[in-house]
Amino acid sequence: MRTNEGTGVTIATRDVDTTATRVIGRMDGPTPGPVLVCVAGLHGNEPAGVEALTRVLNTLTVEAYQLEGTFVALRGNQAALAERVRFVDSDLNRHWTRERLGRVTLDREPDPTVSEDADLLELHDIISDVLDQATGESYLIDVHTTSGRSPPFSTVGDTLRNRRFAMQLPLPLVMGLEEHLEGTMLEFFNDQGHVTLGLEGGQHEDASSVDRIEAAVWLALEAAGMLPDPRAATRLAEARTFLAHLSRNLPRVLEVRHRHFVGPNDGFAMRPGYASFQEVTVNEHVADDECGSVTAQETGLILMPLYQPAGDDGFFITREFSPFWLSVSALLRRLHIDNILPWMPGVTRDPSHGGTLLVNGRVARWFALEVFHLLGYRKRRQMGDVLVVARRLEGGQAVNDKATSH
Ligand SMILES: [Zn+2]
Repeated sequence: MRTNEGTGVTIATRDVDTTATRVIGRMDGPTPGPVLVCVAGLHGNEPAGVEALTRVLNTLTVEAYQLEGTFVALRGNQAALAERVRFVDSDLNRHWTRERLGRVTLDREPDPTVSEDADLLELHDIISDVLDQATGESYLIDVHTTSGRSPPFSTVGDTLRNRRFAMQLPLPLVMGLEEHLEGTMLEFFNDQGHVTLGLEGGQHEDASSVDRIEAAVWLALEAAGMLPDPRAATRLAEARTFLAHLSRNLPRVLEVRHRHFVGPNDGFAMRPGYASFQEVTVNEHVADDECGSVTAQETGLILMPLYQPAGDDGFFITREFSPFWLSVSALLRRLHIDNILPWMPGVTRDPSHGGTLLVNGRVARWFALEVFHLLGYRKRRQMGDVLVVARRLEGGQAVNDKATSH
């Protein structure tokens, strides 16, 4: 037995499965084309994704489907997966910060005292190499499961290209999660110009989480234009019906409104019985911590209530994002309305960071964060009266044009 310092959780030490290699599998079509990379187990207590990706690759091999482009499936946190813990020393899905990546990828010397540094370097190199080989669009999916009960859903950083991809999966789409999280793998690769999507399969130990992830990966292969083989049609139709049935009573698109942050010594405990997309009302007593009751900040649908000791997201509150505003924001972005923002009173460009605006809250009082969201910006931070927002990168125009073709 040993204690995981990051979480204070005592875990049984098992033999590391030395046969578990980084690459679960790779399949190449006869000619180069789009590339889809799927990563599972960035959190080691979420092995359902590894199982699902293994199944997809087995079926692709046994049934000899003709693939267009390249499909690669990878394991995330190798040591944590072997020990079935979220992480060993540091959360690998908060590890992709500019300074850590700079140090690890430029010096090529992972910190030996941080288990996740070696994973970061290896994943960075493999994923970058494979995605950059795409002659069509390049897609990255990060597969997760949750500690609480949950139907499957997808998450994206709100770019038009990410939306288009995600909307082809019959799953609720949650936007704006990344605004609350720093150092995620998807944000790093999104900023490199790739299409990115987070896939949440359901509860960690729920056997059906594997089925749901498997179905979503089949549909992602189809959405990426990589599975034109007519023999796959029945399998794809079944996957679509299966996921559509699970999503039938849920909103199509949601936005994250609040995140309840949990510090290491907060003593946070969710009250029992909450599941993702369950309705909560403002001031509802949803959890307890050392300061007393934790209540819902507003009425909405709760997302990812925390029912495990590790992790710093207690829960999120989301609300439905109407299809009308989805269309409006797509139109505003295509018209590049945001070009006039720096001319507005109280709004200035950050001279040191392209695509970043500084908004003086005292002058631009009427400018709500929602307006920046519609125009494709995300909140970076609040510095006193000044709100810092940055444009989410859509990637190059050439890539954009290709994305609209399927
Ligand atoms: Zn996870």
